[in-house]
Amino acid sequence: MATLDELREKLRKPLMRELLTGCQNKVVAGGIEKLLDNLGKPFPKVREVLRGYADMDEADREDRLRAALDLLAPQPQAALTPRPARPKAKAAPESVAVSNWTLDTPVEKVSFGPGATKKLHSLGLYTLRDIAHDYPRRHEDRRALPSLQEVEDGQKVTVAGVVVSKNRRTPRPGMLILEVVLENEWGVRVRCTWFQQPWVEKQLRQGARLVVTGRAKRLGRQVQVNVEYFELEETAEESLSIGRIVGVYDLKEGVSQAFVRGAVRKVLGGLPLEDYLPASVRARYNLAPLPEALRGIHFPESEEELARADHRLRFDEFLFLELRMLLQGEDGVLLGKRFTCDPQDIATFESTLPFRFTGAQRRVLEEIAADMRGERQMARLVQGDVGSGKTAVAACALYLATRDGYQGALMAPTEILARQHFKNLTHYLFPLGVRVSLLIGAMSAREKREVQQKLHLGEIDVVVGTQALIQESVSFHNLGLAVVDEEHRFGVMQRRALLRDRPDVLVMSATPIPRSLALTAYGDLELSIIDELPPGRTPIETKLIQDTHRKQAYGFVMGQIQQGRQAYVVTSLIEESETLTELLAATQLAENLRELLPQARIELLHGKMSAAEKDEIMNRFRARDFDLLVSTTVIEVGVDVPNATVMVIENAERFGLSQLHQLRGRVGRGSLQSYCVLVAGDASQKTRRRLKVIEDSTDGFVIAEADLKLRGPGELRGTRQSGVPDLRLGDITSDVEIIEQARELAKDFLQADPTLEQPRHAALRAELQARSSLVAVREVI
Ligand code: ADP
Ligand code: MG
Repeated sequence: MATLDELREKLRKPLMRELLTGCQNKVVAGGIEKLLDNLGKPFPKVREVLRGYADMDEADREDRLRAALDLLAPQPQAALTPRPARPKAKAAPESVAVSNWTLDTPVEKVSFGPGATKKLHSLGLYTLRDIAHDYPRRHEDRRALPSLQEVEDGQKVTVAGVVVSKNRRTPRPGMLILEVVLENEWGVRVRCTWFQQPWVEKQLRQGARLVVTGRAKRLGRQVQVNVEYFELEETAEESLSIGRIVGVYDLKEGVSQAFVRGAVRKVLGGLPLEDYLPASVRARYNLAPLPEALRGIHFPESEEELARADHRLRFDEFLFLELRMLLQGEDGVLLGKRFTCDPQDIATFESTLPFRFTGAQRRVLEEIAADMRGERQMARLVQGDVGSGKTAVAACALYLATRDGYQGALMAPTEILARQHFKNLTHYLFPLGVRVSLLIGAMSAREKREVQQKLHLGEIDVVVGTQALIQESVSFHNLGLAVVDEEHRFGVMQRRALLRDRPDVLVMSATPIPRSLALTAYGDLELSIIDELPPGRTPIETKLIQDTHRKQAYGFVMGQIQQGRQAYVVTSLIEESETLTELLAATQLAENLRELLPQARIELLHGKMSAAEKDEIMNRFRARDFDLLVSTTVIEVGVDVPNATVMVIENAERFGLSQLHQLRGRVGRGSLQSYCVLVAGDASQKTRRRLKVIEDSTDGFVIAEADLKLRGPGELRGTRQSGVPDLRLGDITSDVEIIEQARELAKDFLQADPTLEQPRHAALRAELQARSSLVAVREVI
């Protein structure tokens, strides 16, 4: 007798053929329904979905077919679950548990393996929807890994294989080299080396399957790879990490690529995904169906599939933004707080400053004050280059809020930044009698409780913190204004929670966005731009060098240190790599520099440190306890150490241009001449051209645009930082055509159904609500 799996295949194949041949109902004699009848009892749901197939039009047929194929998709979760003994799952038919899943099912309700809930939460993934839409940061083509004969010395390669031997060497005291020989499926061996990473060894059992990326070194006919990044494969029957195009996800400490891929695979395999866009609409805009797009972005079978997936999901992002904006425009006046914003108070604030506001700051402040005076909830984005004085403006706005007896809050993406904002705000506001407090996770439970109590009683006027601010159920006495620094780092969940008090909201961002497009894409945020730097800044001198000239560069750094200045050295690989690799990069670099600059006091800051450790290092750096800080990109935004005048960025080619621009903004914070050295790790023309943009320009807008134009073909889909909440793929600076189409479609939808209340738009509406925080808030009011 045929097994259920065999029957499923028997059904899948003709349905697939039917789909591919244009839904003519001709692939089986007697039609699709006949086919089902012949199979007998199984698959009642499929039968249900395809009932009346012969009488449907082609678009409907297509929808139904896809739904049926989804139901028949092989269920990968069984194969991927690492623990074989799961009697319970056997006893209860899998489809029952799985069919209860919806997009809004919380992740803790689904078994993703031990410790999974915590891991998923740490990535900001709370529901199955979050997982499905946690798109890879980039994709790597690992279909055909390079043949080792062709590998050139110094080339970056990715190889996969099984560990056949390992060997640990200590050529001299304090130096540890781990050598692992990998053998690929054709028996070709390659030697991989790790430096100074004792913890790697125990992960690499004999027989473990690995994918490693690093620089190749030719030793005669042999190839050795100095590993920069590796992934340990779970022993899955089907590999998700080699032999295919592989998505690489943003990770946090303790979470592996394999884990995220497995979770996504499980969700996509088990979730009944309904497309909220009808087939006719998809045909009009040439959009892939949603289930296909989600599979295509996570597990593409080809570049074309990836491109189609990317296009569809990008389109959706804009569609929902447009819908939200249009719905908002109709009657959507959110009531916020009303403030007096007396010009006299602004003058008072300014009089306590050691400087005068620039014209741009003044203009933006006036825009903010006008919003705050109105009864509509302010939702304004202040965009300005690093150092343009956004924080000073925000401080003034917070002061204005407190003048009417309201409280203010400032949320920062990291504890380091929260502390720094706290310091700055105290500096600005203390002389004016405003009570400012800090609230972050690293504080003791008692301290936090005390702050929370005072907030509740109204004994604190302005609180500065991280997510802890809202996660720990803070109840404000009277929250009037919330300032959010670098909004795109917060998930929708957090924003929604913050908005519960319906304060006026001010968002600060350093990501440059052309104005015309920003208005569209933000939808519900008004835009203010600070397009002028405070006077008296000496422009940062930027120099691009090859890594063969590193010695001279560090000679220059040493010169600055000898003049009493401090330096940053930044290395890449933090968010997207597994933490150990990040450590490798940073630890190795610090070692290397200690050798190169024996007189300099060097410390290391990396993502594996606790918040308290990071803070301590930053405080000591600020206090000039040491000279040179080697860091991963955790210093990317906001750190303010005016005495630091040099920044060296190693492997600069691995950063996005806008990211480099922001990093560079960490120096030149005082009046001293500052320098930025970009070290190019590869000598290609492409790298040179890209990095030259940074060398030649200090204008964030110019850089952002160049970044787009130059985004190379090397990566299938480049890293991007759109800076726009809810846009993960979409890019408002380049997706002009998609934006126009999405807007047209949004208008069509609303013309037919102005509030999206008709049943046929239920799925669309549900998705809209899930995606947009402000709309969701409106629903509650
Ligand atoms: P941003 O938040 O945009 O990075 P900040 O508000 O932190 O910028 O300002 C950067 C530095 O410039 C701070 O040291 C601040 O005191 C100073 N600053 C801000 N506005 C002015 C101004 N109008 N004139 C001179 N210095 C200013
Ligand atoms: Mg700032």
